[in-house]
Amino acid sequence: MSDYGLIINGDKIVTEKTFAVKNPANEEVVANCPIATKDHLNSAVKAASDAFITWSKVSDDDRAAVCGKISSAIASHSEELAKLLTQEQGKPLEGAGSRFELGGAAGWAGYTSTLKLPEKIIQDDENAKIVQTRKPIGVVGSILPWNWPLMIAVWHIVPAIRAGNTVVMKPSPYTPLSSLRMAEIISACLPAGVLNCVTGEDNLGQWMTEHPNIQKIIFTGSIPTGKKVMSSSSASLKRLTLELGGNDAGIVLDDVDPAAVAPDIIQGAFLNNGQTCAALKRLYVHDSIYDDLCKELANAASGIPMGDGLDESNLQGPIQNKMQYDKVVALFEDAKEQGGRVLCGGDIPNEPGYFMPYTLVADVNDGMRIVDEEQFGPLLPIIKYSDLDDAINSANALETGLGGSVWSSDTERAAKVASQLECGTAWVNGHGGIAPNVPFGGVKCSGIGVEFAEEGLHEYTNIQIVNVAKA
Ligand code: NAD
Repeated sequence: MSDYGLIINGDKIVTEKTFAVKNPANEEVVANCPIATKDHLNSAVKAASDAFITWSKVSDDDRAAVCGKISSAIASHSEELAKLLTQEQGKPLEGAGSRFELGGAAGWAGYTSTLKLPEKIIQDDENAKIVQTRKPIGVVGSILPWNWPLMIAVWHIVPAIRAGNTVVMKPSPYTPLSSLRMAEIISACLPAGVLNCVTGEDNLGQWMTEHPNIQKIIFTGSIPTGKKVMSSSSASLKRLTLELGGNDAGIVLDDVDPAAVAPDIIQGAFLNNGQTCAALKRLYVHDSIYDDLCKELANAASGIPMGDGLDESNLQGPIQNKMQYDKVVALFEDAKEQGGRVLCGGDIPNEPGYFMPYTLVADVNDGMRIVDEEQFGPLLPIIKYSDLDDAINSANALETGLGGSVWSSDTERAAKVASQLECGTAWVNGHGGIAPNVPFGGVKCSGIGVEFAEEGLHEYTNIQIVNVAKA
């Protein structure tokens, strides 16, 4: 038995089977999470389909007002949700941790409530009146990752609902508890069935992508799973938005002041312990400043208080799960074997919890696992370059294309270099900054479509043209 239940048609449903959700800071069980069967999923989709009939006809202003209410409800429960998030996700309460994530979730919901979907008059003359409207698609299936589970859930759910769709969401099996609780809070602001939340193992995600009565999937997760989602969604030709993995490069030009840029580079790399899709994951540094910058980066990355995130003095928590921890450690060991020089970190505590301090490895090259694979953890490879074109080619050489950055004291020069990066967002003198009014998405294998702003809202709509001939 569990205190947590699936949220289906406004009801909390207790399931026969559950699984244990562990706290990555101490490997103890936080609580048991319900496992949804195929019948539960069918009930959730049926509830969402039924609710769509009325929700899709609610006026735009009323839907906007409800999204505003959702923002307030998240804000008023933020401390409860933040503590639960820290327990199951590991991120600290303080710093850019759980409280920060809840602030982002409420803020994004609030901003999304202000977005508009106006009609567009394409032609109105003696021959015809042609009007374009944006109509909701139907039932949206939201499949979520474990790194920013609540903020990303809001990125999926609120624009879908704002545009008149109904939703079945599926949190990651690693972080389902705070999502179930947030879904309960949000669904209390909505008519029954508009938001439903089912939890279980990965097969539940696959059933969603195969479900004939889900019309769109919004998926945030890894590239291999994204490919599976695309393939199994094809049977019913679902609309898709895919926000997938990245391996963002940062290029540091020869004119930077190493002491000035080092703290911002570390922040861009290690936001959320490096477990951020658009974190800086490969750093290319010009040889004229390489040694100085390595020294400053090591200073900036050292001495961060690490431990259980519920202790407010800690600013770094554990890696979220054992699988990810093993992967990051394996990349680190491989880099050392291949001659990588450890600038700081690397001393992994031998105690419960998946802790690894911020770790910088210099003198590595393209072709090594630590550079070519998305590490998604507190580990940053630093690569020396002497020719800028080579660095740009390296940045663009992988299948990923989420973000990238250029660091320089000449912002005009840097912006020209940034525009040559093959990625959805190219930052200058920063990395990873996002905002609800700026579209965000990946190119190449990092994704399809965008989130945020009007462009993101449009992804939850179909265009309809009404073409009235005039006599
Ligand atoms: P993951 O792909 O392992 O899992 C994501 C979700 O997919 C989970 O809910 C999982 O249960 C579900 N799933 C697993 N198999 C499935 C299947 N066959 N069909 C449907 N759903 C299935 O990803 P993760 O480890 O949770 O998240 C980390 C990855 O997500 C990283 O690569 C990261 O870069 C990426 N990410 C991208 C963005 C972005 O906006 N581009 C944001 C956050 C994370």
